[in-house]
Amino acid sequence: MKQYRLPIIMLAVFETVAVTLWLTKDNLFYLLNFSYIGISISLGMFLFIKKYKHARRIVQLLVGLYMLIYLGLICQENMQIEGFWYYLFTGVFEAATIHYAVAKIFGPLIFGRGWCGYACWTAMVLDFLPYKVPEKPGKKLGFIRYITFVLSLVFVSALFLAKVQNIERIMFVAFIVGNIVYYAVGIALAFAFKDNRAFCKYICPITVFLKPMSYFSLIRIKCDKDKCISCGKCKRVCPMEVDVTDNSRKRKNATECILCMECAKNCPKDAL
Ligand code: SF4
Ligand code: SF4
Ligand code: SF4
Repeated sequence: MKQYRLPIIMLAVFETVAVTLWLTKDNLFYLLNFSYIGISISLGMFLFIKKYKHARRIVQLLVGLYMLIYLGLICQENMQIEGFWYYLFTGVFEAATIHYAVAKIFGPLIFGRGWCGYACWTAMVLDFLPYKVPEKPGKKLGFIRYITFVLSLVFVSALFLAKVQNIERIMFVAFIVGNIVYYAVGIALAFAFKDNRAFCKYICPITVFLKPMSYFSLIRIKCDKDKCISCGKCKRVCPMEVDVTDNSRKRKNATECILCMECAKNCPKDAL
């Protein structure tokens, strides 16, 4: 049973959040929503322990499709960054703000960029593309993320300042258009840079939250120097170009790690 400790803890954490929000907000949705996500993640961890090679992709599809299709398209909740600003400005602690608080702002203090590895519906599609590991070293284009971040804030602020009617409807349209643009740009960049995760590395505005918070992440990949034979395989399979054998929090691309576990799976000495 000891080996299943982590999925059980993860399920317990999500159930605690689910029950707490259900009771405090008197809304059954929170119980169902967080239970579903907790079960999906725990199932993925269980499959990973069983060495099922598509474990991560299964979680990514279960959570990503649920959020994109059910929450986004059916419930019409804008879970993109514009939705976060919208709910923040209206002072409503609802789906998008709770989602950001849990998955992208405070959660990364515990599970780093687990969101990017296991739940994001943009990466869910990008990870099907052929360049799982970048063919060339990354470029210094990370500054673009700050531009897209500011643009999203300016867009929503302008709607409020101009007192535009029916912003909720605009948010839903923005969610659809935004996703189409994200997928188009993400796929184009993946082929241009021969790197599935180029969009994550250079464009995604959410990394403005994710990167600094994940710097302090409790869960990190660490290298056992006594076992490591410096074969370099871990770095060759890393989609995010993390210098994973360096245990420092300041290691190269430290805050890019998406906890995909490819390095650990491929280490011949179980050093990670
Ligand atoms: S960086 Fe952005 S697009 Fe990439 S996985 Fe994370 S949240 Fe999704
Ligand atoms: S794959 Fe394992 S043994 Fe090889 S360099 Fe990485 S940690 Fe060390
Ligand atoms: S391969 Fe390892 S270091 Fe690279 S992103 Fe995945 S878990 Fe992080």
